[in-house]
Order: sequence, then C-alpha cells, then structure tokens
Amino acid sequence: MSAPAAPLLSVVIPIYNEQDALPLTVQRLRPILDGIGETYEVVGVDDGSTDDTAAVLTLLQSRWPQLRVVRLRRNSGHQAALTAGLHRALGQYVVSIDADLQDPPEKIVEMLALAREGYDIVQGVRDDRSSDTFFKRSTAGAYYSLMHRLVGREIPKHAGDYRLLSRAAVDALTSLPEAQPVYRLLVPWLGFRSTSVTFQREERVAGSTKYPLSKMVRLAVDSITNFSAAPLRLATWMGLGSFVLAFFLGVYTAIEQVRGVTVPGWSSLFVAVVFFGAVQLVCVGLLGEYVGRIYSAVQGRPAYFIGSDSADLADVVEVPAVTVSVPAQVG
Ligand code: UDP
Ligand code: MG
Repeated sequence: MSAPAAPLLSVVIPIYNEQDALPLTVQRLRPILDGIGETYEVVGVDDGSTDDTAAVLTLLQSRWPQLRVVRLRRNSGHQAALTAGLHRALGQYVVSIDADLQDPPEKIVEMLALAREGYDIVQGVRDDRSSDTFFKRSTAGAYYSLMHRLVGREIPKHAGDYRLLSRAAVDALTSLPEAQPVYRLLVPWLGFRSTSVTFQREERVAGSTKYPLSKMVRLAVDSITNFSAAPLRLATWMGLGSFVLAFFLGVYTAIEQVRGVTVPGWSSLFVAVVFFGAVQLVCVGLLGEYVGRIYSAVQGRPAYFIGSDSADLADVVEVPAVTVSVPAQVG
C-alpha cells in the first residue's frame, strides 16, 4: 500500500474534444519522454469532453502506463483544467502543454535541462505565430500589449501556457486562493528565477480551435480584472472627469440663462444625457465585474470538480478496505 514514488517529471495536458489530435500527440510525445530516461507521468485532464476523447484516452492509457487520466465532471475551461492538473501532478518538475501539438514537445528536454541548472520557471515563448490565423494573431497581439500595460514589463510577450515549473513554483501557485487563475500572468508575478525557450508555433495537428471568441474574451476579462484594479481606477477618473465637465456645463448653462438666450438646447442636453449615461454604464459594468468576482470568491466554489483520477482508481484497487468510507453526512 505504499504510495507511488513521485516521478521526476509530470506533463499536464488539458484536453477538450481532442479525439483526433490525441493519438498523434501521444505518438510524438511518448518517445521524447521515454528518451529522457527519468521517471515521469503524463496527467491528461479531460475537461468534460463531449466527443470520443474519453474512450480514446482510456485506450491510450491501456498502452501507456505513465498516462494518468483526470476527468473533470464538466467543461470548466482551459485554465481550470490546468489548475486541476497542477494540483494533481506529483512530479518534481511539471510541464504544461496543449493537446494539439502547436507547442513542440521536443522542447521539454531543453526545458528540463534548464530547470536542472536551477531555474524554477522555464517559459515557452513563441517567436513566430505565422501558423495562427490573422484573427488569432491580431487579437493575441492586442491582448499581450494590454497585459503589458496592466501587469508590468515582465510579462513575456507571446508566452502561452507551455512552460515548466519546479515543485516549489507549483506549490506556490496552487497555494494561491484565486478562483480563476490566469497562469500566464500569475507565473511571472511569482518572482521565481525564470528563463525561457523559444519555439515556432506549429499548425494544430487535428481538429479545430477550442478557443472561440467568447472564451478569448473571457480570458481577457479575467486577465484584466484578476490582476489589476486599474479598470476600477479608470472608472474613478472618468467619474471625476465627468464631474468637472458637469461643473463647467452648469456654469455655462447658468450664464446662458442670465443672458436670457433661451435656445431650445436640445442638442446639448441630448449629448449630456448620452454622455453621462455612457459613463455610468461603463462604471457600473466595471463594478459589476468586480462585485461578481467578490461574490464567487465568497461563495468559494471550486473552479472544477474531479470526476475521477486513474491514479486514485489504482489506489482503490490496491487497498479497497482503507478507501471505504466515512458517512457522507455529518450533522
Ligand atoms: N482546452 C480545454 N478546455 C477548454 C478549451 C480548451 O482543456 O474549454 C484545451 C484544448 O484541448 C487544448 C488547449 O486547451 O489542449 C488549448 O486550446 P486550443 O488549442 O483550442 O487553443 P488555441 O491554441 O487555439 O489558442
Ligand atoms: Mg492550440
């Protein structure tokens, strides 16, 4: 009943509807990991896939003992799947990589070598995004320059979620109470010793992107509000600016009144109403974003639910007596 020894390396892969990409990914990843000659595990996090991903994973797992499958009960999003993987990974070093081979897994060897030199974080940085669509490239460009402004200079541009973390960095990350972590911003913020490897972003090996515009907007909004109170301050400044403007408009109106120039004034009123309406809406919207976040933080709901973990199942088979069972309800 001994607990399995922690492997040197864990590779965490968030997976959502990747039935076509998975076999190709495994085919390319496995020789690389085997070639390192160290103990490893691959933690495939099935993020509530609705296609045949679950069956494909089970099949792959039967042929690859190091593959561990963690299933989330429902689709919780890329970052939540990553969180689940990071919490569950046991390795001394943990690499996170997408399931679609856009990030070349060969770089893991280089990352591991750098980590062994003493770096806690080795970030994969894309030096060429020509394989992404024009839309993806331009939205990503806008995203990174906005993050640059909000979070500070040290956010590496075009650094996605392909990176290696040391055990210390993983423990630091997983100890954070964030409900919706955005790792590409949090990781540099931790302040661990870090370096990067560059690579060319490749074409998606199969299937289509699982990041439609709605999820990209979600990620951007999470990134801004998670990481900075700047938008709230923006609302304050806009509010102050509006007050100043309103003051001058008031003076102007009073003067016009005294001069007896009683123009209908429809346009100025209309402009003012629209303008202040807009200001209020923007401010209320921003406040709502934070209030919503406070609400979910107070609720304390986890970002994901583990449906099963093949590593746990293995434990259950080994020691059934121990794992049964405390009464479900107390009090
Ligand atoms: N993914 C996920 N849950 C989601 C969306 C995506 O686990 O809700 C996974 C997906 O399977 C892939 C990774 O996150 O391994 C990145 O997604 P994708 O490649 O579609 O994003 P893109 O590279 O187009 O930005
Ligand atoms: Mg991709």
